[in-house]
Amino acid sequence: MANTTASIITIGDELLIGQTIDTNSAWIAKQLNGIGVDIIKRVAVGDNREAITQALDRAIAEAGIVLITGGLGPTADDITKPLLCDYFNGKLIVNEEVLQHVKDIFARRNRPFLERNMKQAEVPDTCKVLFNPMGTAPGMMFEKNGSIIIAMPGVPFEMMAIMETAVMPMLKEQIVSDAIIHKTTITAGEGESFIAEKIQDIETALPAYIKLAYLPSLGLVKLRLTAKGADAVVLDAEVAQWQQRIVQRLHDIVVAMEDISFEQITGNLLKEKKATLCLAESCTGGYISHLITQVAGSSSYYKGGIVSYLIEIKENLLGVSEDSIVQNGAVSEVVANQMARGALQLLKADYSLSITGILDKEPVAGEIAEPGTVWMAVSDGQQTIAKKFRFFHDRQRNKESAATMGMLMLWKFINGKLTA
Ligand code: AMP
Ligand code: MG
Repeated sequence: MANTTASIITIGDELLIGQTIDTNSAWIAKQLNGIGVDIIKRVAVGDNREAITQALDRAIAEAGIVLITGGLGPTADDITKPLLCDYFNGKLIVNEEVLQHVKDIFARRNRPFLERNMKQAEVPDTCKVLFNPMGTAPGMMFEKNGSIIIAMPGVPFEMMAIMETAVMPMLKEQIVSDAIIHKTTITAGEGESFIAEKIQDIETALPAYIKLAYLPSLGLVKLRLTAKGADAVVLDAEVAQWQQRIVQRLHDIVVAMEDISFEQITGNLLKEKKATLCLAESCTGGYISHLITQVAGSSSYYKGGIVSYLIEIKENLLGVSEDSIVQNGAVSEVVANQMARGALQLLKADYSLSITGILDKEPVAGEIAEPGTVWMAVSDGQQTIAKKFRFFHDRQRNKESAATMGMLMLWKFINGKLTA
């Protein structure tokens, strides 16, 4: 196949109004990118004849591969199948293999097979059927003007099953494309302009077929090198060398040399140091604990945490003094320090992280600290360091930001880079 560009069309009114987030096109794009297909466009359209037809016309004119999801169900709001049938000048016929499969599914679920369910086994006679191992609506493949068009159901796990069992193997066989290599370096604690300044000469010296992208997020910047070339092995070695140069230059802010989450980075560091961690969480309500335990094998370094939401729990379990709370409020440096030390004593880990704050925009009665203020402390028993943060978004985002900054603070502390 000469033209290895792809266009993705996701269909459904629910996508347009934000009721369903279009995860299908992101997932498909990732799969295609992995085998060297260039994704040139992703569009979402409603369950609307004109909109779908127009999107198809454009996509076929622009791309060699067009992937569609959605609108294949048996109900009236799903119009994709009859539309594709007309668009590709076919007529609907019952496919015996699909019919048997649909009947089997109904039998397994102990449901009566209705006449209207026959419709689910109908496909345009101008398509090649792509078997759906996970559901009743089959995928369909058409050809027009040198492009191939693949339609799949919108239900994500059904779409994924068709992609994995039918579409990807077929594309891999047909596409003789360049290899694509991605290598990601993650830095913490510095902004992208600072980094760009530091590695300017390396970036300028990159050959044209290797691109560098800056992907900033809270507290972190990911530096992704992407290379395209004929020989994957040679390319991989070459990109690895460029990554080494960048890592050497930025050494003290590099936290990972692969695309992983901050909780994985934290876990790797603790494993490397053969150290254990415990937490004392107030405003994050166990969220950091949740993140840490998302990593398989976290029991080798994570001992546990106390969710000390109420003042009496801070006092009774963590040994925070009533006096400190009366004088400074629960959201204060003193209390954060006492929580970190208290957790360490109680849970007997090498390091602790504590967090106490006000995540909402409204002031809290009896609290001296302003809304959005969060105090965090880290401790190793010898030294305890606290820092104050301010977050200005809604509760959920502030919670996520606080968790990231907490893990970053811990990372710096363990590496001896956190100054009081
Ligand atoms: P449909 O094939 O249009 O009947 O879609 C069935 C269900 O799949 C919908 O109710 C959505 O919840 C889900 N869905 C459809 N399109 C997408 C998409 N692009 N991303 C994620 N989920 C989707
Ligand atoms: Mg739909």
